[in-house]
Amino acid sequence: MSDCLFCKIVAGEIPARITYEDELLLAFHDIAPKADTHLLVIPKQHIENLNDLSADDAELMSHLMLKLPVIARQQQLNGFRTIANTGKDSGQEVFHMHFHILGGEQLPGF
Ligand code: 5GP
Ligand code: ZN
Repeated sequence: MSDCLFCKIVAGEIPARITYEDELLLAFHDIAPKADTHLLVIPKQHIENLNDLSADDAELMSHLMLKLPVIARQQQLNGFRTIANTGKDSGQEVFHMHFHILGGEQLPGF
């Protein structure tokens, strides 16, 4: 999507502090971290959010879920919180699906 912020990061048009990349995924530091370590993990493919998924995305989503702890461990996170805001009511601001990884400190209760 041409006007999507995260698609522009995937395309290298907007810089990001990338920590992990493979053929399907990108992980990078959030620009406004809400914990000592705050990463965003996104599919390279533009998918709006979890509501946008179909059965065709099963392989991608399985890959993404399995990579979350790998990406967290690369940052020396033993425990971490994963958040995926879905839709305006949830507070989603960027409509390219992303999983927040928060850690590096004792997080407050949720
Ligand atoms: P949401 O509220 O949609 O779940 O999360 C969007 C996240 O994207 C926010 O935590 C926000 O700080 C982050 N963000 C917004 N613009 C940029 C940007 O240009 N670069 C990076 N790395 N993160 C961004
Ligand atoms: Zn996008």
